[in-house]
Amino acid sequence: MSDCIFCRIAQGDIPSSLVERNSEMIAFRDIQPQAPTHVLVIPVKHLDSVRDASGTDGEALLGRMLAFTARVATSLGLDAGGYRIVTNTGDHGGQSVRHLHLHLLGGRQLHWPPG
Ligand code: AMP
Repeated sequence: MSDCIFCRIAQGDIPSSLVERNSEMIAFRDIQPQAPTHVLVIPVKHLDSVRDASGTDGEALLGRMLAFTARVATSLGLDAGGYRIVTNTGDHGGQSVRHLHLHLLGGRQLHWPPG
């Protein structure tokens, strides 16, 4: 989608601080980090949110995204201290970019519940 900022990042039209990528997904640094490590993981293919990752293909994609994010966490040295993976969904979830993404947050003590 040409008006989607994360699609444009995936296509290389907008620069990002790349952490890792494969043919299906990309990990890059959040522009407004909420923790010492704050990485976003997005699928290259546009889906609005986790609500749209349905069916066999969608569920498999979510599994691979989670596993990919855990590998990124390992490569960034977050395993010992721990980390959080979260996906905001829709208005009440506080989703500001309507392209499915996982937040990977680590490097400090995170609190619960979030706001
Ligand atoms: P959410 O509010 O869950 O939709 O998260 C969207 C995230 O995208 C926010 O944490 C923003 O800081 C981040 N963000 C928006 N634009 C960019 C960008 N161009 N590069 C990196 N992160 C971005």
